[in-house]
Amino acid sequence: MTSAALDDGAADGWVPAEEPPDWYDVVEPPDWYESETAPPPPDEAPVGDAVAAPSRGTPEQVLRDVWGYPGFRGDQARIIDTVVAGGDAVVLMPTGGGKSLCYQVPALVREGTGVVVSPLIALMADQVAALSALGVRAGFLNSTQSPRDRARTERALLEGQLDLLYLAPERLTVPATLDLLDRARIALFAIDEAHCVSAWGHDFRPDYLRLTVLHERWPRVPRMALTATATAATQAEILERLHLDAATVFVADFDRPNIRYRIVPKDAPRTDLLHLIRSEHDGAAGIVYCLTRASVEETAQWLVGQGVPALPYHAGLDARTRAANQARFLREDGLVMVATIAFGMGIDKPDVRFVAHLDLPKSVEGYYQETGRAGRDGLPSTAWLAYGLADVVQQRRLIDSGDGDEAYKRQATRHLDAMLALCETVDCRRAQLLRYFGQESNGEGCGNCDTCLAPPEGWDGTVPAQKLLSTVVRLDRRGQRYGVGHLLDILRGKPTPRVRQLGHDQLSTFGLGDDLSEREWRAVVRQLLAAGLLRVETGYGTLRLTDDSAQVLRGTRQVRLRREAPKAARPARPTPAKAPPVALDDAATGLFEALRAWRAGVAREQGLPAYVVFHDATLRDIATRRPADLEALSQVGGVGAAKLERYGPGVLAVVADG
Ligand code: ADP
Ligand code: ZN
Repeated sequence: MTSAALDDGAADGWVPAEEPPDWYDVVEPPDWYESETAPPPPDEAPVGDAVAAPSRGTPEQVLRDVWGYPGFRGDQARIIDTVVAGGDAVVLMPTGGGKSLCYQVPALVREGTGVVVSPLIALMADQVAALSALGVRAGFLNSTQSPRDRARTERALLEGQLDLLYLAPERLTVPATLDLLDRARIALFAIDEAHCVSAWGHDFRPDYLRLTVLHERWPRVPRMALTATATAATQAEILERLHLDAATVFVADFDRPNIRYRIVPKDAPRTDLLHLIRSEHDGAAGIVYCLTRASVEETAQWLVGQGVPALPYHAGLDARTRAANQARFLREDGLVMVATIAFGMGIDKPDVRFVAHLDLPKSVEGYYQETGRAGRDGLPSTAWLAYGLADVVQQRRLIDSGDGDEAYKRQATRHLDAMLALCETVDCRRAQLLRYFGQESNGEGCGNCDTCLAPPEGWDGTVPAQKLLSTVVRLDRRGQRYGVGHLLDILRGKPTPRVRQLGHDQLSTFGLGDDLSEREWRAVVRQLLAAGLLRVETGYGTLRLTDDSAQVLRGTRQVRLRREAPKAARPARPTPAKAPPVALDDAATGLFEALRAWRAGVAREQGLPAYVVFHDATLRDIATRRPADLEALSQVGGVGAAKLERYGPGVLAVVADG
């Protein structure tokens, strides 16, 4: 497979191509070419000719009136206070942690319009619709809208009629937009998905680097940078590249306790995936990540053939199909999206119940971002990864054959090594993930990952490791190098034509390893690779020794391995994911279903995703409390003033009927 067949999503697509990728906001040539550098900042504090959108009250009032939530979570209140007081903030919070409120609330509290820099124009219309349902006046400027709509939004901005304005970085930094913002009253700048400034990162967007213009031009307007990528390196890059030296940095707890992490050997990945869906997440929405466009297409078709409603998504599909599939995934219940990593950033569907990887992710950062798309609503969810030896070989090959320079390749190798270590760990997966992001856990294990639920057996793999490594040495002495298949044939004593022809049945290690099955041997090889005791060479994927291999061969280093779970060890009845926080009795379940049906109708009528009308959690609460009037309904979490007015009578009618 060549790297051209791969889909790196945004990572390889940032150069505006003939047909720009759908996240790229096409800015008209006159704007684009007008000036290479931004005009100098005005001398005066930027008081435009515009009217400022008025304040809607204190943060607590806004949270209660607009969102209908009783209180802030975690650091939200401190972050919001910092920005309301005019300070800069860097917010590192896991997906689903509640980042959007951190800039939306201060935008409503401060006078003027909050300007949100977001990389994904395809999602702006949905974000604005969700805010409109809350009674927030939001708009966006991008190439998907008509000139008339754009003019209307610009006028609303200057007239103080907008609480929030969404823009892509490439649009924000052109002179015409800068001039427009000069004339407006700006409450704050929120730079969403701020990890896109990181050149090493998986979502690099060069336009983010130009966002330094914000504080050069509007030094008095508070800025926030928000991301769910938490490594110290990314954090440092955000601070430096966006000149946020004076910002207060808020690092949230990165744990996602409702996500159950599972990493399984790749035996029959599609069948295992189907088993996971049928036994644990039947009828639920999920995302399945594959490495290549071809495997996306095949897997989606295969799932459909098995009766699972699935859609493909990758950068090779035309823009209209991509947009249509994304919209269906967001709007309909229970669809499975099979995708390359081109899909997912900014997807805020709260009820994605599982994220599955059929191929090894390139880094732990990527893995955590992708799996984080499960369970934003806090309900039990699964992150499932099938991983095999071929993945390692393939990823190494991709790194070595890619166009990156040496430094880039070293970095990519480190990322891959960390990912392998996570796959092969005998410790709690969650503890290892959090440690990777600099967060220590209590050392007791989380109780909600595969290694905690079924602790893998450890065994002394020193002797098998020596057998394997010494076979590599013997072949090396003859100037011969082979891939894993041939090595295992030798060790397991299989007299294949090639083995005989090369005389490898005469090696002293021939047949020495027939005590382990092929599958067990592959697990040994994988773990030696993960431990850096063996390496895959590029080109043909041949196995080579490392500097540390000698210690094993000399017997000065023990090799502890994890025993592979037997192949048929799929539990007949899977341990159910943790019970939902609110268990519903029969009557409440009936009402909950009736409310969901009502919601589906409303969503269809208004062209909105169902979760924009109300979240499942809110419907559950209504089904339990059975509010009799608007006053009682307004007490339910997630029912703010606008939704009470717009949907209250409809909900009360369903409750009365139920
Ligand atoms: P992020 O952008 O960090 O991924 P979101 O802002 O989408 O997360 O928030 C995740 C979910 O949590 C959303 O459904 C949001 O409405 C909800 N949420 C956020 N803050 C609160 C809060 N203080 N009280 C109740 N729900 C909240
Ligand atoms: Zn655990």
